Amino acid sequence: MSEQKIPYKIYLEESEMPKAWYNVRADMKKKPAPLLNPETHEEATLEELSKVFCRELAEQELNTTDAYIEIPEEIRSFYRMFRPAPLVRAYCLEEKLQTPAKIYYKFEGNNTSGSHKLNSAIAQAYYAKKEGLKGVTTETGAGQWGTALSMACSYFDLDCKVYMVKCSYEQKPFRREVMRVYGASVTPSPSTETEVGKKILMEHPGTTGSLGCAISEAVEKATTTEGYRYVLGSVLNMVLLHQTIIGLETKAALDKYGITPDISIGCAGGGSNLGGLISPFVGAQLRGEANYKFIAVEPASCPTLTRGSYVYDYCDTGRVCPLSKMYTLGSGFIPSASHAGGLRYHGMSSVLSELYDQGIMEAVSVKQTEVFAAAEQFARVEGILPAPESSHAIKVAIDEAMKCKETGEEKTIVFGLTGTGYFDMYAYEKFHDGKMDDYAPTDEEIANALKNIPKF
Ligand SMILES: *Cc1c(COP(=O)(O)O)cnc(C)c1O
Repeated sequence: MSEQKIPYKIYLEESEMPKAWYNVRADMKKKPAPLLNPETHEEATLEELSKVFCRELAEQELNTTDAYIEIPEEIRSFYRMFRPAPLVRAYCLEEKLQTPAKIYYKFEGNNTSGSHKLNSAIAQAYYAKKEGLKGVTTETGAGQWGTALSMACSYFDLDCKVYMVKCSYEQKPFRREVMRVYGASVTPSPSTETEVGKKILMEHPGTTGSLGCAISEAVEKATTTEGYRYVLGSVLNMVLLHQTIIGLETKAALDKYGITPDISIGCAGGGSNLGGLISPFVGAQLRGEANYKFIAVEPASCPTLTRGSYVYDYCDTGRVCPLSKMYTLGSGFIPSASHAGGLRYHGMSSVLSELYDQGIMEAVSVKQTEVFAAAEQFARVEGILPAPESSHAIKVAIDEAMKCKETGEEKTIVFGLTGTGYFDMYAYEKFHDGKMDDYAPTDEEIANALKNIPKF
């Protein structure tokens, strides 16, 4: 079959950019289970959610019926500064691997925050501004979410208060400074600014903090300060919805050249980039229009889908957010010090959890050293220094391409390259010095963490 020459990068014209996000729940016959109030265990209502989140975001969270939700013009004009993200044909990687597979990746690292998180940060900041709020609070571990939110808040002139896990605050001073460039105030957590922070410092003097503790501080600050709300960068339905801009652009670019992906791959932390990438394709499959294979890639150190349970659990360690039915390792699960900071979450998007449970999506877990080896292989031929999180997807894309080499199949593989790794050079250093380990939790550790899931 003669094939039109596919360019290295497929861009979209401004006029071809998506004008609405796609809500895959509308096309799911069996929907994800509803969120529950953490105290009453009744279905969470719009009123309740609106106390925690901006009202329009709470509506998006609960919307299981509208397939398309319009992207407000203010957000679309911000998107135009760094989107469309290029869909790159990895000709050089294919050549290096000597595979008949055709590999494409959607690169989300072309903005200062360096990852896809800006797609949702700008949407959440917009709705906060529209509601007349003064500012938002959040936590950040690895720093990508805090950076993206700082950029979004400065654009809409909102105050942004970030609680950054103290060890990251110290180990990643450059991320901290980027947030300050955008006017955010960054506090190492635990701090003496909140009651919960003071309590933790008293009980554990000298602690370098944890994500759970930073969340508790951010929530306390938001709920005790007039005109503030707390925002989250992953896991929630609304975040996945905003991230569908990734998949919609990818599909539009592929459609231009009549390309159908056989396999779509993405790394899964809370599931937002992968959910965003695959949603439009999953929708087509659910409507009976096509058949695809979807693979979620997670670290062996935090194997939520591959070794967790599908039950109702807390989304946050502070137990203030609604309960979500999802694959989880238990909200008390503390993964080993893996460097893929963005993939260390104990739970998973309820949409992806349901798709996995229905057998529509597959999942694999990979070891850290293999991931860095794949990252380096990719960097050397494609030029981009990938984030450790993104490199999980690279690893499995290469594995699938190598299977094609054995069978001679010319499969089309698409994967999400979520960000750049310039702030992760300590992790690369550990890899080069042979000091990186491949720790995976034992069955006993997982069983113990799952003892804390709520029982009712
Ligand atoms: C946060 C992050 C992830 C994981 O988050 P998801 O919600 O699962 O997409 C992946 N890659 C990068 C670069 C990140 O910053």
